[in-house]
Amino acid sequence: MSSRLWPSSCGPIMVERLGPPLGEPVFGELAIIGVGLIGSSVARAVRRRKAAERIVLADCSEGTLARARALALGDETTNDLARAVQNADCVILCAPVGANESIGHAIAPALKPSVIVSDVGSVKGAVISVLEPILPPWARFVPAHPVAGTEQSGPDAGFAALFINRWCILTPPDGADPEAVRKVRAFWEALGSHVETMSAGHHDLVLAITSHVPHLIAYNIVGTAAELEEVTRSEVIKYSAGGFRDFTRIAASDPTMWRDVFLHNKDAVLEMLGRFGEDLTALQRMIRREDGDGLFALFSRTRAIRLGIVAQGQETAAPDFGRRGADADEPVS
Ligand code: NAP
Repeated sequence: MSSRLWPSSCGPIMVERLGPPLGEPVFGELAIIGVGLIGSSVARAVRRRKAAERIVLADCSEGTLARARALALGDETTNDLARAVQNADCVILCAPVGANESIGHAIAPALKPSVIVSDVGSVKGAVISVLEPILPPWARFVPAHPVAGTEQSGPDAGFAALFINRWCILTPPDGADPEAVRKVRAFWEALGSHVETMSAGHHDLVLAITSHVPHLIAYNIVGTAAELEEVTRSEVIKYSAGGFRDFTRIAASDPTMWRDVFLHNKDAVLEMLGRFGEDLTALQRMIRREDGDGLFALFSRTRAIRLGIVAQGQETAAPDFGRRGADADEPVS
């Protein structure tokens, strides 16, 4: 991967680029099921890096497949999921996690021997317990979660550089084929990601606090503001300062995807929400008691966490991490 600096109104932004095409693709034929933000970004990055020889795109929506063809995201498009996977060496499920059960049943009989099946779901335990019993014994299942995204959805929202310098977490079940795990790791590294392996349970707990609960808080605060009777909706929009504006961006995330995340990571989210509630009560008490030292100490600790995220290259001042420009080969402003 190479990097370049472009000037911008928010200061210099690191524009990261995918490396040159691989000498040898990781997979022969790759089938991507669900051509939305993540599926289309995978297709774009795979095409750019030649990480697969051939890409077959499947989706339940004819409109999405028409956009995929117009954008030349793959070599073949179909709404027939069995047909999409019949010659695939690797199948990646990129639909909302609630759709995995029906997709699993549709593809299982058509999967060829030694196929690798993976996914990109934001939840791992529930995905494994749904898919493992459905997939045939000859399929090598390696669940994955690229920790990368935006609040947008659909094939037009994707971009090839989405995964650069982001983490991709693999959660291979007990007994997963090591060669399949190695190939899925090589695949995500080719798309620019850092790859980590952990148990599905640990993944779900970590993501509950770093992603799922923050989304729930955003949905809640924007909902609360919208319900206020003494503040009009136009005032909320007109005076929305940085904090609230950032929440509205997150709260604009895809309703189907996030409904499925909360329904499929229920236990971990409820566990983290319980802790969040306790800490919120402690904050309320500090404000009531006018405990300025306590508030200052907490805000100083949280500021250090933010600085740590920036120092690790996981954030820039740009809302899209400065990456869209890398796709269009244009400066980011
Ligand atoms: P998206 O943009 O809404 O795309 C999902 C696509 O899957 C849509 O085209 C949808 O079609 C299609 N689909 C739904 N059910 C299907 C079915 N039964 N068979 C075939 N296609 C089906 O969603 P996304 O943001 O890419 O998210 C996809 C997956 O990535 C989710 O599992 C999510 O947890 C995971 N993920 C998301 C993010 C993020 O930030 N967005 C980050 C990491 C991982 P319709 O439009 O017709 O519904």
